Amino acid sequence: MCQRAVYPGSFDPLTYGHLDIIKRAKKIFPELVVAVAQNPIKPTLFSLKERIEMLKKATRNMEGITIESFKGLIVDYCKEKNIKVIIRGLRMISDFEYEFQMALTNRKLSKEGIETVFLMTHESYSYISSKLIKEIASLGGSLSEFVPPFVEKKLKEKLKGCKLQ
Ligand code: ADP
Repeated sequence: MCQRAVYPGSFDPLTYGHLDIIKRAKKIFPELVVAVAQNPIKPTLFSLKERIEMLKKATRNMEGITIESFKGLIVDYCKEKNIKVIIRGLRMISDFEYEFQMALTNRKLSKEGIETVFLMTHESYSYISSKLIKEIASLGGSLSEFVPPFVEKKLKEKLKGCKLQ
């Protein structure tokens, strides 16, 4: 029986969709590590520190959750931490192809037998992505339905003066 799982991602920024997956994963695994990716070839709007802070703030009242960062392959991180389960969220069928490819690749790369567990998001969040959130923010739209209020504030601060024409 696995006690611990890891939920990796960029979280750039954290959305209600991510939080929904965190809550669902916590119902199955008593301990959940949310691992924020530090990827030198994938530019992010928020720094690693900012992304970690947002997750810490949003999960501060939830038990059994730790927020960490990782660099490199998630399977190497899992090996180092002795974690056997990776959590990923599925929104729509369009996520499936990439996630399927990743899950099979991770299984192949790992000699420890890592499994990926997919959780379906709540239908209200199925269309939310960090990319869409950034686009709405850059156009000055309200984000109250998609991200916690403090994330919306941070996004507005970050994008001040960068509104699209
Ligand atoms: P990535 O890991 O591709 O950089 P994210 O940090 O945005 O992407 O997402 C991490 C994980 O959370 C992925 O499995 C992604 O499918 C999932 N996810 C993102 N947004 C949502 C959402 N609205 N509902 C459910 N899962 C989501």
